[in-house]
Amino acid sequence: MPQKDVYSKKITSEEEQKNFVLVLKDRLSFFPDEGETFKLIHNGQPRKAKIESYPCSCRGPDQPHSHYFVKSRGLRAGDRITIQRDVKGGGRYFFPVEPRLLPSPDRLANWLNRWFKSIYWAELARSAETSF
Ligand SMILES: [Zn+2]
Repeated sequence: MPQKDVYSKKITSEEEQKNFVLVLKDRLSFFPDEGETFKLIHNGQPRKAKIESYPCSCRGPDQPHSHYFVKSRGLRAGDRITIQRDVKGGGRYFFPVEPRLLPSPDRLANWLNRWFKSIYWAELARSAETSF
């Protein structure tokens, strides 16, 4: 998928607390104009969204500028989010969130192993009981 059709970033604690995803200025053109509503399909649920901004002075009082964002709830710092533009048009955007704690194959194998062992021992204990 070409880079221009997705907007991806890691959620910071600021974004988690303020319930928004910051849109970097050089990627603003990926979204509709500020204030224009569009459909953001968040994990299959369509929602109305729009680009909003707030004035900021993080570069000093002599360099006032705006930060742009899309409101979104349930963000968690450290998650990587990807907003994907519907290439067929229609002004739709998809918002999949990749959970931070997606189990790695190793962790999954470990977990299954423990689970099978616990069943195995439970079975052993039961057969020991019934053999008396
Ligand atoms: Zn700033």
